[in-house]
Amino acid sequence: MASYVGGLVLFLGSLFAAEALVEQTALREVAALIDPFGFLAVRELITYWTPFERNTQLVELSGVLLWNRLIWVTFGVCMLAFLYVRFRFGHEAERGTKKQKATLSGQEVVLERTTPLIVPFTVKAYTFDVRVRQVLTIVRRSFGEIFASRFLLFIAVACLLFLFVAGWDAWVVFDTPTWPVTYVVAREVLGQLPPLIYILVVLFSGELVWREREVGMSEITDAMPVPNWVLLFGKFGALILALAALQAVLMAGGILLQALKGYYNFELGLYVQILFGIQLADYALWAALALLVHVLVDQKYIGHLVFVLYYVFFSFGRRLLGIEHNMLLYPAAPGWTYSDMSGFGPFLSPYMWFKLYWGAWALLFAVLANLLWRRGWESGMQRRLREAGTRFTRPAAQWAAVAGLLLLGFGGFVFYNTNVLNDYRPFDERIARLAAYERRYKEYEDAPQPRIAGSSYHVEIYPEKPAIALRGTYLLHNLTAVPIDSVHLMVDPAIELREVSFDRQGRRVLEDKVHGYHILALEKALAPGDSLRLSFNSYFNSRGFTNSGAAAALVRNGTFIDYDRLPVMGYQPERELKNKALREEQGLAPRKPTPSVYDEEARRTPPRYAEWNHSESVIGTDLNQIAVAPGSLRRTWTESGRRYFHYKTDVPVKNVYSFFSADYQVLEDKWKDVQVQIFYHQAHQFNLKRMVRSVKASLDYYTEHFGPYRYPQIRIVEFPRHEGGYARAFPGTVAYSEALGFMARVEDGIDYPFVVTAHEVAHQWWGGQFAAADVQGRRVLHETLAHYSALMVMEKTYGPGKVRQLLGQFQHRYLVGRQNRGHLEVPLLLSDDQDYIHYDKGAVVMYALRDYIGEEQVNTALRRFLEKHRYSQAPYPTTLDLLQELRTITPDSLQYLLKDLFEEITVWDMRTRQVLAEPADGGYRVTLEMEGAKMKADSIGRARQVTMDDLVEIGLFAAAGEGEERGKPLYLRKHHLRSGRQTITVTVPQMPASAGIDPYHKLIEWTREDNVIEITPGKGE
Ligand SMILES: [Zn+2]
Repeated sequence: MASYVGGLVLFLGSLFAAEALVEQTALREVAALIDPFGFLAVRELITYWTPFERNTQLVELSGVLLWNRLIWVTFGVCMLAFLYVRFRFGHEAERGTKKQKATLSGQEVVLERTTPLIVPFTVKAYTFDVRVRQVLTIVRRSFGEIFASRFLLFIAVACLLFLFVAGWDAWVVFDTPTWPVTYVVAREVLGQLPPLIYILVVLFSGELVWREREVGMSEITDAMPVPNWVLLFGKFGALILALAALQAVLMAGGILLQALKGYYNFELGLYVQILFGIQLADYALWAALALLVHVLVDQKYIGHLVFVLYYVFFSFGRRLLGIEHNMLLYPAAPGWTYSDMSGFGPFLSPYMWFKLYWGAWALLFAVLANLLWRRGWESGMQRRLREAGTRFTRPAAQWAAVAGLLLLGFGGFVFYNTNVLNDYRPFDERIARLAAYERRYKEYEDAPQPRIAGSSYHVEIYPEKPAIALRGTYLLHNLTAVPIDSVHLMVDPAIELREVSFDRQGRRVLEDKVHGYHILALEKALAPGDSLRLSFNSYFNSRGFTNSGAAAALVRNGTFIDYDRLPVMGYQPERELKNKALREEQGLAPRKPTPSVYDEEARRTPPRYAEWNHSESVIGTDLNQIAVAPGSLRRTWTESGRRYFHYKTDVPVKNVYSFFSADYQVLEDKWKDVQVQIFYHQAHQFNLKRMVRSVKASLDYYTEHFGPYRYPQIRIVEFPRHEGGYARAFPGTVAYSEALGFMARVEDGIDYPFVVTAHEVAHQWWGGQFAAADVQGRRVLHETLAHYSALMVMEKTYGPGKVRQLLGQFQHRYLVGRQNRGHLEVPLLLSDDQDYIHYDKGAVVMYALRDYIGEEQVNTALRRFLEKHRYSQAPYPTTLDLLQELRTITPDSLQYLLKDLFEEITVWDMRTRQVLAEPADGGYRVTLEMEGAKMKADSIGRARQVTMDDLVEIGLFAAAGEGEERGKPLYLRKHHLRSGRQTITVTVPQMPASAGIDPYHKLIEWTREDNVIEITPGKGE
């Protein structure tokens, strides 16, 4: 037992702990060193390897891997030596001091009683309460045994250790941890423990089942007048008690952790719900299975193995075998999340129903275990079955019947929800459906369709049901050159489209609810330039639950619906099956690639949602909630117990709408004439000031450099985390997940609530004021520019040090992203759906460009780009237009940089070999010996050396102060650097402490650690 537990804790514990550290940049190397198995060290070494390198290079035993191996081999050898020295043949009982042994052997055996013993007569009453007392006695004794074995204590200490290592800085985003709110501790941190606990469960249950046999007491205990079920329940009870004790310790540990971190809102109820409700119930189900396995298998070690194999199958095998329905695999259930805003939302009840159903199975297991419980030494299965037959008495049959009824009842209810109320669609069927959508409707892809030229909505949100009724009217405009005789409408199939009508004669000719595809024929075709009104009425609610749980959008507090849930015009290529292999399986032709940036035809096609429209909405919700829609709030009123809000846009906006409703608190502020509002959940006040400061700093910077802000207001609206952990910009509005920044604990880390806000506000320009052509590079115009803008705002507030810290992470993420399995890397200019390029590389590239060319120049180019394409009509702008503006402001000597950064994939490799400093003319003459190399990579990461003759920054620094990475720069200037070795000599007034090349890592490079080195005093010193 000790060896299993030790091995298990060592294996899982070190992996978990090391994984937890990996999240933090500064600790990545520490994690690679402390992982006893060396996995992380290997990973650290090959982090930046591109697919080409992964296929052609071998991992060398060097650097962090070498150290890791040295540390752990030394440790292993030391342990072995220690154990060898300490090892003794002999039995534990024989140990003890000589003195004790002497007294023991010297003792004489005295028989205390020589008269015959009279056995008192007792009445043998086996009533139910005697049985209960027996069960409780066994619970007490067995728990005592578990406790006495000290493994429970050991495990508890190990789990606590894990809790404090992984939870100390939990949920780190950009080097910034999250406040240890209760669900982060109970769910995100402790939620990683169950696999370890399951294995504990099987070990303990094995010990309990085998206890009497192993100590040679089974002949006596088996002869006791105690029925099997008493033993079974007693032992099961002890196991649950042990697990509950462990949970209690973890809960206390969690609270202690929160207190130590200065967070005092202990939600005891939530702890109890998660640890003792959801998790303990799950452990109990596994414990029932473990006991059954040990009773059935009747071989302790094989029993362990069977359980572990089943767990492995449960976790991984089911996907391979395609067992998808949660009713088919004990004790599967859909997942759940917790949100401060909407609690467990709609997720808890499906989870509980599934677990109740499995609870009925567990009861059946108990009946079975009771029948097959082994008594005596006879272990043949045949004999045990025969015995089971005789044990199948009336009470046993009754219990089996109860279990069967519960199973049918709960199972029936679950099945009714998953397969009758809702469509149950296994993976293959879902894929087939997507394929069918494409086969059936692809032909309409190019059918001329009207565009939305205006819209109005009436949204009724019923948080208590929950349900959403959405009525809308679109003004449709025929912008094509041909008459349109039918309108194609697509709506999310989960939403019921109840009615569609025109303001003229027309009829529905196709209503495909499976794919959400509707075709309406017009009596009289819509002439070019003409328009019509289309009205629809849709309803969104959930009927029961599905195999995967519940719809996240329908919650009691925190409704968030965006334009994806509104009807859209025409065939939607975005909804096609995207996975290449699956497409092939379905016999579909490869998808059309995103049109080339040079495709003039594609530049003239209006992109999705590119219309500039006015919109008006009336949105109704519960009395205690506030609803938000696009535009300014014109009026609010109550009517028949509901609260209504009327919003109207002030300027034309793109067709990207969002509607919210929740019990919000509202923070009001002002920037010039613009109303600044944050709609937030009561408990999430940590970072509101940072967000407001960011909004104001952003508006200051962007209006000064890029042009005016368009709306009378800017809003940040919080939404629950089960909708996602992102932030997204809508006209005048930023939807902001509670999981991103609202609970960040910004101290020395990066103020990412500030940065994310600045990024989203920047989208009010980049994306909010023009529509990019739907060709390669489209997202560069949105995301790269928003990232760049946010960095500028951040620099103004936090200084360049913090920006460099963040850029270090972006550069790391870009280089890791290059491993891009399945995707080919493209230059920034062409980035399509590769986030690591248009976000991470984009930020690094734009910041470098700013450094080489100057902030004013870059901003001038961006402003000119925006001015040319504001409220764009065809031809729509592409990255080529942006590049053109940048070329105009870039001096000839630096044009090469645009090619390196935007048009090609370039990686540098620079290092400082030696720095010598000698006193000269009252100062110091410093000679740097450096080496430069420059590579161009192709789409699979195959690098080719090119001649380097680039301007690169050279820096000399004073000694670093406390907590600084580098001291004050004494010299910082760009020099020409060629390929290969070369020296540069500069003179500074004071002895520098360190010096090197590209010290702030403005250019993209793999090994950045060798750029700057400490200075060795040269000759003459
Ligand atoms: Zn963005």
